[in-house]
Amino acid sequence: MTQTTKTQVGIIGGGPSGLLLSQLLHLQGIETVVLERQSRKYVLARVRAGVLEHGFANLMREARCSERMEKEGEIHHGFYIYDQQAGKQRVDLHKYSGDNSVIVYGQTELTRDLYEAREKMGGIVIHNAEDVKPHDLTSVSPFLTYRKGEDVHRIDCDFIIGADGFHGVSRKSIPKDILKEYEKLYPFGWLGVLSRTKPVSPELIYARTERGFALCSMRSQVLSRYYIQVPLSDTEEGWSDDAFWDELKQRIPADDAARLITGPSIEKSIAPLRSFVAEPMRYGNLFLAGDAAHIVPPTGARGLNSAASDIYYLYSALVEHYKKGSSKGLENYSARALARVWKAQRFSWWMTMLLHRFPEMPGYDRRLQDIELAYLFSSDAAMSALAENYTGLPF
Ligand SMILES: Cc1cc2nc3c(=O)[nH]c(=O)nc-3n(C[C@H](O)[C@H](O)[C@H](O)COP(=O)(O)OP(=O)(O)OC[C@H]3O[C@@H](n4cnc5c(N)ncnc54)[C@H](O)[C@@H]3O)c2cc1C
Repeated sequence: MTQTTKTQVGIIGGGPSGLLLSQLLHLQGIETVVLERQSRKYVLARVRAGVLEHGFANLMREARCSERMEKEGEIHHGFYIYDQQAGKQRVDLHKYSGDNSVIVYGQTELTRDLYEAREKMGGIVIHNAEDVKPHDLTSVSPFLTYRKGEDVHRIDCDFIIGADGFHGVSRKSIPKDILKEYEKLYPFGWLGVLSRTKPVSPELIYARTERGFALCSMRSQVLSRYYIQVPLSDTEEGWSDDAFWDELKQRIPADDAARLITGPSIEKSIAPLRSFVAEPMRYGNLFLAGDAAHIVPPTGARGLNSAASDIYYLYSALVEHYKKGSSKGLENYSARALARVWKAQRFSWWMTMLLHRFPEMPGYDRRLQDIELAYLFSSDAAMSALAENYTGLPF
């Protein structure tokens, strides 16, 4: 038998996008139900983003979820770019972005904060929801169905939010003749290692070398996250911890390599690099947000931050709808969100093209990479453009 309930906003996906929107709306008295396919433990075990723009941090504050982020997150006023020929140069974010900065705070931690806040407020987050399906999306009474054990449930909604990531069901519910997908696949991936070690540098180091790209990042002062560019044919099993550390040391400045503290990996994974955008981000009463609609390569840390701007636009539009009776924000949502999404795509593409070693790259293209970097290091205007994008364009 099907059990039917009702809510105002049905949200598919209990990742950062879905949870943040649900928390923000609840604080405005708007009802939500979040349906998440996985268990909470599974969601919290995923190691992903770590660099937050101010816009994201402000939304966490507005959602009353920022207490731990303010205490444990680290404010970074700059980062380094290292090139084997040109050396190591600091990008002074503070100076070049008009006093802006970023916060280093892991996605796992902020997701935990959001879950706890939802729990405290009695928010409804249904885990292990199987076979979630959105229905009647172009009608005024769309609904969701899902299975939990033997029972089938139905939730009647005013609006449905597809915040179910790249592999979710929401985007696939939009007819193929309406949805346009843009994709760019890069011919390499990033092998990432998380280790309980002190980070080699107080600020991130992005490294461009003949052997390929590397990134020294972190989640805290006792948790380091390092990446190296690897061919798509590589596997995690093929990389022992020792082999990873040896390769990383060859791609970073010699003085950093000499003081790098290594340790056993507590997580190791390969992520292929891909750019993707789906347009439009609205179909009837279904609204896509975050990775469900767009993804970027991790270079430049735009993924989670692009999700945040979608949530901001949706949140404002839904509040406008319920509190002021205006549907203008909802009508403009797709165009507004996509305008910013494409700027983040451009920035991620630019940083990826600048810093990676492409297989069989013509000498001409490699020289252009050299010159792009030389220009960046010598121009205040180029540094300002980088800093403005890295710290986050306005919502
Ligand atoms: C390996 C990896 C590394 C990354 N590193 C970075 C980084 O360094 N910097 C950065 O900015 N970004 C990074 N990202 C991107 C960043 O993690 C994402 O942009 C962010 O998670 C987007 O949040 P989201 O809530 O939109 O999607 P997700 O986090 O993907 O959440 C979607 C949720 O929906 C659930 N779901 C899926 N299908 C269904 C369904 N059918 N029914 C119900 N629930 C469903 C999923 O289980 C998931 O919990 C990385 C991503 C990956 C995969």
